[in-house]
Amino acid sequence: MSEFPSFVSPRLEPAEVVSGTPPALDLPSIISPSFTPLDTLPSTPNPIPVTKDYEPVPSLPETLPEVECLVRARIPTTTGTEIFLHLYKNNVDEKEHLAIVFGNDIRSKSLDRVREGETEMDRMIRGAYVGRLYPGRQTSKEDPKLASGDAHPDHKSTLVRIHSECYTGETAWSARCDCGEQLDEAARLMAKENHGVVVYLRQEGRGIGLGEKLKAYNLQDLGADTVTANLLLRHPADARSYSLATAILLDLGQTEIRLLTNNPDKIAAVEGKHREIKVTDRVPMVPLAWKHDDAGIRSKEVEGYLKTKIERMGHLLDKPF
Ligand SMILES: [Zn+2]
Repeated sequence: MSEFPSFVSPRLEPAEVVSGTPPALDLPSIISPSFTPLDTLPSTPNPIPVTKDYEPVPSLPETLPEVECLVRARIPTTTGTEIFLHLYKNNVDEKEHLAIVFGNDIRSKSLDRVREGETEMDRMIRGAYVGRLYPGRQTSKEDPKLASGDAHPDHKSTLVRIHSECYTGETAWSARCDCGEQLDEAARLMAKENHGVVVYLRQEGRGIGLGEKLKAYNLQDLGADTVTANLLLRHPADARSYSLATAILLDLGQTEIRLLTNNPDKIAAVEGKHREIKVTDRVPMVPLAWKHDDAGIRSKEVEGYLKTKIERMGHLLDKPF
């Protein structure tokens, strides 16, 4: 369980207790284990209605993977927002994919299903309880002593981010990409709405794994861009798959969503081959450094990375380089 996204990680110790660490590292804000405080930045960017029917991606599987939520737990975060972390297993890989859920009213069908022979204590331990746990609680069902679940006040479709694991950007303070910032920003917007889902997929390096990603970084230092580096290593430019995300969102009862993304291919991929999910709006993810003088990541690497995303991967971001 060491690969949680940055904002749920333990706080960093002060630099002086980490032996051998150079003290003068001027680390950018994304290294903060807590996401940006709620009130320092604007609320959700204007959504763009998805009017165009994106062509279904031919490589999408006919049937969605089977997913099952094994356990869910409440995580109080460093900003005060509480989240519910859902851990999933599936029938296509051995990885522990996650859903980070904001708001009390989003529930997993597979988690809530009664399992044969289980006790009320078993259900509470795996997180299949309604409301809140407290010492001595006896039942997993709705507790009359507690106010019932806070229903989502309006009927806007749920804000969703599909995030692929990025060890370098979320944990190792990398300024080669903006994954850490995007995860933090998604969390901030969902905390503000007290409603939302980050599906956290364990597909490091656009699906090629950490070792290959590090080789790609060396190729980038030798002059290749992020797409060419993958191709030189005989990997596809993007080996990610989003079918697991579609299956996890359906398990969480989410059939209409607003998707935080700049990537039009992701919209079609998340909707699924048979349009199991409808993306009603796309909410752009504009890099913080483009909007604020004193926020976000500033490095020549991240600028090149974003430029490649726009020019070679069709991302919908409007920035003259
Ligand atoms: Zn990254």
